Amino acid sequence: MEQKPFLIAGPCSAETEKQVLDTAKSLKELQPDYFRAGIWKPRTRPGEFEGAGNAGLLWLQKVQSEVGLKVATEVAKPEHVEAALKAGIDMLWIGARTTTNPFSVQELAESLTGVDVPIMVKNPVNPDLKLWIGAIERMQKCNVRSISAIHRGFSVYEKIRFRNNPNWQIPIDLKHEMPELQLICDPSHIGGRTAILFEIAQKAMDLKFEGLMLETHISPSEAWTDAKQQITAVQLVDLLQKLKIRNHKEIEEAEIISFRSSLSVIDDSIIQLLHERMKVSATIGNYKKTHNLAVLQSNQWEESLRKNVQKAMISELSEEFSTTLFKLIHQESIHIQSTILNSLDQHEND
Ligand code: PEP
Ligand code: MN
Repeated sequence: MEQKPFLIAGPCSAETEKQVLDTAKSLKELQPDYFRAGIWKPRTRPGEFEGAGNAGLLWLQKVQSEVGLKVATEVAKPEHVEAALKAGIDMLWIGARTTTNPFSVQELAESLTGVDVPIMVKNPVNPDLKLWIGAIERMQKCNVRSISAIHRGFSVYEKIRFRNNPNWQIPIDLKHEMPELQLICDPSHIGGRTAILFEIAQKAMDLKFEGLMLETHISPSEAWTDAKQQITAVQLVDLLQKLKIRNHKEIEEAEIISFRSSLSVIDDSIIQLLHERMKVSATIGNYKKTHNLAVLQSNQWEESLRKNVQKAMISELSEEFSTTLFKLIHQESIHIQSTILNSLDQHEND
């Protein structure tokens, strides 16, 4: 990649002074725009590491003074804002769980009134664009001057490829409603695993996001939080180098390739289903032979054709297409069953 996007990198959590400083030093050459580290960690369940608290602020100050990077952390309460500002933290973000709660967002916005520090608002955990916009508006109403939005995906109960479903349409709609807003993608929390970080970051670039937040750790496998999704500084450099800022035509071509690969996955399923269906036809053929039944039972076939075409039409397939398709499938079934009956007859005649 020729020019790098606005970049925030650093560990999910500040764990120890050494881990924070070693990670920051590993990023020094890359010079991200901000070094991130969570100090107050919103854990889903109690009893897990909840962050280093105020001690972590001192470590971030060392990142500023010893490594020369600007620093950012998550705030969830006015006390956090107060402590972070007192410590001279350069940028603050509101986490996804906090954005869901207008009371918390309002308190935070009020604690930021008249303060000249950039704020990033992560999307709420649930796919609710209005809640995200509402949180940003609360900041604007309290005169927070520099506001960005971070897209970190949305929770779903079902197991999917992503830790948090990207629902790309939501950040696109946000940008449409608030075009002046800087949009940053957080592939780490969307992906939840390192193997798909690049793909998500590239998609964000193709959708013209302005920046990326990527969790980076000196030793990812030993991370106290979000170990599966963190990468080393070396891996981050590699990811950024592979990123392409594509022009409009290249984006369209990439989209078409991705649509084609979806089609081929669906075609594979169609082949597999037809295979299963023909196996059942063969079983029926054997049964008919044993019980001396005719291959073609026309009443039953006409009724099933009618029902299938009706169902297909509800799924917006044309009558002509679905009639032709089911007739073809039926013809093949009859062919398979006749072959079975003939081969058995042959055997009987032997
Ligand atoms: C984080 O950035 O480490 C974090 C807790 O993120 P989110 O609020 O998106 O879950
Ligand atoms: Mn994290």
